[in-house]
Amino acid sequence: MKNVNLHIHADGSVHVSAPAHVSQARIDAFVASKARWIAQRQASFEARAAEAPRAWCTGEQIRLWGETLELRMERASSTRTESVTREGAELVLRVADRWSDSSEASAAHREKLVTRWLNEQLSAALPDLFARHETQMGVHAGAIRLRRMKTRWGSCKVAAAVITLNTELVHYPPCCLESVVVHELCHLIEPSHNARFHALQDRYYPAWREARKLLNARPPVG
Ligand SMILES: [Zn+2]
Repeated sequence: MKNVNLHIHADGSVHVSAPAHVSQARIDAFVASKARWIAQRQASFEARAAEAPRAWCTGEQIRLWGETLELRMERASSTRTESVTREGAELVLRVADRWSDSSEASAAHREKLVTRWLNEQLSAALPDLFARHETQMGVHAGAIRLRRMKTRWGSCKVAAAVITLNTELVHYPPCCLESVVVHELCHLIEPSHNARFHALQDRYYPAWREARKLLNARPPVG
């Protein structure tokens, strides 16, 4: 399409400019047609960012539900008053003086605070999500566990109805978490990835293919 420009910034965000006469629908269709290219560019920016060890300090980027937040470090009066709070597009990390330097131990401490906060965001999203889909599907997860995994987004031990979710899901758009939850709940009805299983996914979460594409475009960083 002429005169429509598409740029991917280093933070993975997509920017489009077009003349006023081009309709929103045409712009959307154009961007959709470039989905594969966008995902590849984002993945390569991400890989580049992953090469540099993180310091968990001001200016670094944290992904939450597919959005990019910028980390801002502030001083807390003591270790007891350390906190992580989201303020608009910023994630404010308040740390005690002793943990605010550039040492590896301090960076690890800050990573722990941010990771804990991210896990809390993930946990908070689960009760509603499970309740809604369990009711609709007529199944019940006996236990839900969170774990950082390198090769899978979720798993289901069918006999005990134990569902494990990858904590990395908190970085992706919410539809990704939802699709994995429904996927694992479908296993409580059909353990194998057969035609019946796919029919269940189509029935209970028709957008699962799109969500799967988003997940595959940026695999778990491990
Ligand atoms: Zn499965």
